[in-house]
Amino acid sequence: MKITFVKKIKEDGEECKKCREVTERLKAGNELTLIDKIVYADMRDADSVGLKLAKEHNIDIAPFFIVESEGNVTVYKTYMELKKKILKKALEKADIEIEERRKANAGIDSGDLTQSKTKTKPAFDIEQLNEEFERKMPQELLEWGLKEFHPCIAFAWSGAEDVAILDMLVKINPKARIFTLDTGRLNPETYDLIDRVRERYGIDIEVMFPDAAEVEEMVREHGVNLFYQSVENRQLCCNLRKVQPLKRMLSSLDAWITGLRRGQAVTRTVLKKIEIDESFGGIIKLNPLADWSHKDVWDYIHKNNVPYNELHDKGYPSIGCAPCTRFVKPDEDIRAGRWWWESPEGKECGLHVKSK
Ligand code: SF4
Repeated sequence: MKITFVKKIKEDGEECKKCREVTERLKAGNELTLIDKIVYADMRDADSVGLKLAKEHNIDIAPFFIVESEGNVTVYKTYMELKKKILKKALEKADIEIEERRKANAGIDSGDLTQSKTKTKPAFDIEQLNEEFERKMPQELLEWGLKEFHPCIAFAWSGAEDVAILDMLVKINPKARIFTLDTGRLNPETYDLIDRVRERYGIDIEVMFPDAAEVEEMVREHGVNLFYQSVENRQLCCNLRKVQPLKRMLSSLDAWITGLRRGQAVTRTVLKKIEIDESFGGIIKLNPLADWSHKDVWDYIHKNNVPYNELHDKGYPSIGCAPCTRFVKPDEDIRAGRWWWESPEGKECGLHVKSK
């Protein structure tokens, strides 16, 4: 299969706005790699490849896509159409191929899926590493992680107080990879912080989005605010909007970094600084702030003048999606405002289920 992406160049030489937006969506969905060729319909040049293709297929809008497969040619006039019919399946196929490669690399029989989750395990003595790094500064663990895995390691930045890690990482290596999950339900303050961070450090943040078609289906079936109806619905929403995009990102990595701390929740008290993440293919998970307190994090943020989410000043010590986070009173637990209608023991979104 071959996918050609036809973009338009306007009379003033600028690329059309819609074409730029579609490119961003393809990038955000990790789908740009599925496009074989980009050509331009240049309004200043009647002989441009894109204009000839538009004429040949009787198309008068841009962008559009031409898909050639087994001798058939199909034209898709919108990104959503291409996504539903082609890209979604292609990504699933790519996921399967990655998993197959992982298994092949680990020398594991293709029939045993559970064992394939131990790919990186034999390379490191996790217990010994934990002993070594338990007494060390977060920066030392980050340096180790970057030395061992970069560019196949990335920091999952939540847009909240873990911005301290982002600051440390960029100071160690400005090319360190940082991604965030845009669930589509974040607070305006969080979006604002993402842009302030980009500007302040001059870095790219890889923003991962959920699958639009799956979210549309979920909302059609259960409503927009389904998470208030039951734990199952809340977990379904977290799965589609957070876990699946995370899974997509982690499938291309050997290690990831989080801002988890032991003091954050009853579900995190035994957190190790280095873990094998069995939930995401057995890759390494680094939690450099595991032993830091809330105060340690904020001392670092203030001392280093790190930009932070304005919601923290409005009574939100822990920040997630807008409808699932409320402010907390001074005497409440710092995560009391997350999914406040549920009991504390179950308050995880699936991003950080127990690792070894
Ligand atoms: S935190 Fe709430 S809105 Fe965000 S993904 Fe989970 S259930 Fe959905």
